[in-house]
Amino acid sequence: MLLEISGLTKKFGDTPVLKGVDLSIEEGSVVCLVGSSGSGKSTLLRCINLLETPTAGNIVFDGKLISAPDVPAYSVRRQIGMVFQHFNLFPHMTVVRNVMEGPLAVLKLSTIEARRIAMEQLQKVGLDDRADDKPTSLSGGQRQRVAIARALAMRPRLMLFDEPTSALDPELVGEVLNVMKALADEGMTMIAVTHEMSFAARVANKMVMLDKGRIVEEAAPHDFLSNPKTERAKAFLRHFEWLPSPI
Ligand code: ADP
Ligand code: MG
Repeated sequence: MLLEISGLTKKFGDTPVLKGVDLSIEEGSVVCLVGSSGSGKSTLLRCINLLETPTAGNIVFDGKLISAPDVPAYSVRRQIGMVFQHFNLFPHMTVVRNVMEGPLAVLKLSTIEARRIAMEQLQKVGLDDRADDKPTSLSGGQRQRVAIARALAMRPRLMLFDEPTSALDPELVGEVLNVMKALADEGMTMIAVTHEMSFAARVANKMVMLDKGRIVEEAAPHDFLSNPKTERAKAFLRHFEWLPSPI
């Protein structure tokens, strides 16, 4: 297992938000995490890359207990990339300079080496021709692809996606999902919070549903989507229209 989470609990003040989450992720697999708003999905991802400190429980990544208090967050974040709903690119920097930032600032690579890696990743997301443009000249879908390239430039072993397409115009969703699918096909280990159910059906190895801070169902996509076992998952899935896949 690349990632093993056990008994993960997170409280904000007295309010429990994660209530004992156990989850294992195999290297090279894709997990899609679903659940209604406020169920704890973002908090779970944020605990994994130490943007939040767990209240209790263990997170073991690549055999190492990363939830221990003495583990520096930067050492974890250089191996676990995260892409958020909003891309947070630096507007005053060119596209390629945004992607170079991690390799320069964190990996301390030379400008030439950082640029080489950045161009490689931009090519992967199909935006090497926009390298010298400012992010403001790009569409939302293109910006999100730059954000993915930026995370990939750190050569992570695990990628976390937190609703990467939910702020995009519908016609821009497909290009981002395509990049994610290509990444999955290359063998990247990924946890994606997404409600793009047709994407999940095609790409995920496992779907996990969180409800009120607990995993209520964990199953292969086909089983989860067409034959959910819990009443909670059944009720949740009724809210989704079955549209043709955008990819
Ligand atoms: P989801 O991503 O599934 O919508 P979140 O993990 O963002 O859920 O939030 C779960 C719950 O934790 C929500 O009730 C939210 O208000 C609360 N929460 C999240 N972050 C904080 C915080 N920094 N301080 C206090 N409460 C928080
Ligand atoms: Mg969230």
